[in-house]
Amino acid sequence: MNKVFEAIRREQGYQDKIWGSIETNPRSIKIWIDLARNRISDAEINSLSIAGNPDITKLKLLQAAAYLVSCLEEHGVVEKECAHEWIMAGVKHDYYYSWRKILVYCPNCHVEGHIQNPSTHEYREAQSGERLRWYEPDRVVIQGSKS
Ligand SMILES: [Zn+2]
Repeated sequence: MNKVFEAIRREQGYQDKIWGSIETNPRSIKIWIDLARNRISDAEINSLSIAGNPDITKLKLLQAAAYLVSCLEEHGVVEKECAHEWIMAGVKHDYYYSWRKILVYCPNCHVEGHIQNPSTHEYREAQSGERLRWYEPDRVVIQGSKS
């Protein structure tokens, strides 16, 4: 875990000791947003003040981040869908059924897929594996995740 995430964890522990954990003191998303917004507002005021201390600004942002992480831990996390970027991962050839595929994967989310019925030129190029090649999303048949 990197330094920032470690600091968020410690801040969550500190907040839990004072206010209770998400198990002992569940809160609505609205309440979490209010808590985080107050800390962001404090950070903003501090950062705009001539007498403001940058360390105080960062501390307030850490408190806000800890609230937002706790909110997602209590209410569940949703991620945006990956706009896959397909790169070549290998080739497959079935001589009996006479089909061939170029295997591809998305380095961002590790979903795998394949290009069905590639041209001979594309297949040879993929077989050589000489260069990284990117494929158009509408040509890829998605197979699933390997992660
Ligand atoms: Zn992806």
